[in-house]
Parts: sequence; structure tokens; C-alpha cells
Amino acid sequence: MNGLRVKIRLASAGLLVFSLLQTPTAAAWGNEGHTYINLVAAENIPADMPRFLRRATAEIAYLGPEPDRWRSPSEFALKNAQEPDHFIDLERVAWLDPLPPGRYEYYRKLYEKRAATTDHPDDYLPEHVGLQPYITMEVYGRLKAAFREYRQRLGAHQSTKAVQQAIIFYAGWLGHYVGDGSQPLHTTIQYNGWVGPNPNGYTTEHHIHALFETTYVAANVKAASFAGLVHAPKRIDDPFLGYIAYLKESNEMVEKVYALEKAGGFTDKGSPEALDFTSHRLAAGSQMLLDLWYTAWLESATAPATSGR
Ligand SMILES: [Zn+2]
Repeated sequence: MNGLRVKIRLASAGLLVFSLLQTPTAAAWGNEGHTYINLVAAENIPADMPRFLRRATAEIAYLGPEPDRWRSPSEFALKNAQEPDHFIDLERVAWLDPLPPGRYEYYRKLYEKRAATTDHPDDYLPEHVGLQPYITMEVYGRLKAAFREYRQRLGAHQSTKAVQQAIIFYAGWLGHYVGDGSQPLHTTIQYNGWVGPNPNGYTTEHHIHALFETTYVAANVKAASFAGLVHAPKRIDDPFLGYIAYLKESNEMVEKVYALEKAGGFTDKGSPEALDFTSHRLAAGSQMLLDLWYTAWLESATAPATSGR
């Protein structure tokens, strides 16, 4: 569940007082799902990537839920700045195709759209639409730059101890956002209760998000449930475009989540169909993460372009 958006929804309903009752750390995919996504990806790091990374499975797994540890009201500035990183409402940017590759161009387009909109213009504020692919590509860039530094130090016969730690952190941190992207409810305006026309009678209550990604997963899914679905990594030709396609694929499964919930698939022990669906979503997250690590490693062999001012 996303605390910021819950707050906005409650405030707009005039129920601000209830925001005091919300649990502050309800998490995307929950602690278990994020840990498993990172763990399974780390266990599949191929032999042609650095050995220190293949040995860091415990550290990488620990870092899966890391950005969800940054959502406490006790660190307000941090919570406030990074909550929009966890989602994107793709329906709100259907008119913006292709998405610009940098966040400031994205902001500018959204503010233009907001200025031209009379009905709920604030729906187009960047922090309400979400920044998912931008933070993901920014952390990907950090990882790639650190891999490049590692290669340079290795080539110069210098110690790589410090850069190894940076790489492990970036790889683990990246896993959180990639994991969020595989959760269909992190890509949609339907993130926690159906809104708008509802011919199939899906739940409109604000419980489906945490029920699916946290309660159900913690009780019924293990890393072993989906580890067999993750295979050797492939290089992604264009990481940004590849990642957007991955988010769109996730978004196409939003209705499936609601249909499973309606059929009781996530209640208690759930249904075999729900387990199969959830396992495939978690595996998709692990696979994309592994593919991005692999691509960052291969791309880091190329000398950086020089630019800037
Ligand atoms: Zn998240």
C-alpha cells in the first residue's frame, strides 16, 4: 500500500483523521516478496559476472525491502521524497507515448497536461502519477557506473573492495523497484479498490493491495515457489524501453488481480490459480532484475560518453 496515496484519498474524502490510524510501513510485495525476488535473482547470477556479486546473495536479499524501510513518518523528508518512486499510474500517461527518458522532461509534460486539464488537474502532478521507471533507470545507471569503476580498478590492479560494496548496494536497491514493477497494482489507478465503471463488480474496498502483495504472499509463497521459473539472463537492447514494456505487461494483469480476489483466490490459503499467477509475477520481477544486472555489467565494458557542463 502506498501511504502518500492513501493520505490523499482520505484527505479528499474529508476523512483525514483516519490517516492517523494507517499502518505506516505497509509494503509493496511485502517484506517476503521483495526478499524472495532479490534472492532468486542473485542465485541466478551467471558465471560470467563477478564472483563477489554471486557470493552476496544474503546482502542482496536483505536489500530487497530496503526502500520500504524509508517510509516511516519519523523520517518525513525521506518518506515524502521517495514514496512516488514505488508506482506509476500508466492510465494517466497513456497520452504520453513514448515516455521521455529523463524525469525532468516527464515533469514538464505532466505540468503542461495539468495546466490544460479542468477536471481533477492534480491527478497529473508527477508525485501523484508516480516515478517508477525513472527511479529504476537512475539506480540502474548507478549500478552501471559502479561496474565501470570496478572494471577500471581491476585493470589498474587497484583494490576493488569499496566499489564491490557499492555494487552490492545498488544491485539490491534496484531490485526493490523492479520488484514493485511486477506487481500489477503498482502500475495503475486501480491500485487499491476499483474506481470508475465496474461492470464485473470488483471490490471497491481499500484492502486488495495489501491482501495480495503482503498477507497472501507471506502466508502462501516461498522463494522456491517461483525459483524454477527464472532462467539465465539476457541482455536487454534498450533498458528504458525494455523496462517500460515490462511495466505495461504488468499493467495488463491488473484486472486479473481483481478477478482472483473476487473468486477468493487470495483469502487464507487461496487458490491454485492465485498461486500460479503470483508465482509468475514474482518470477517476472526476478527475471527483469537479473536481466538488468546482466545488461549493466555488459554495458559497463564500454567507455562512457563524455558530456555535461
Ligand atoms: Zn515499493
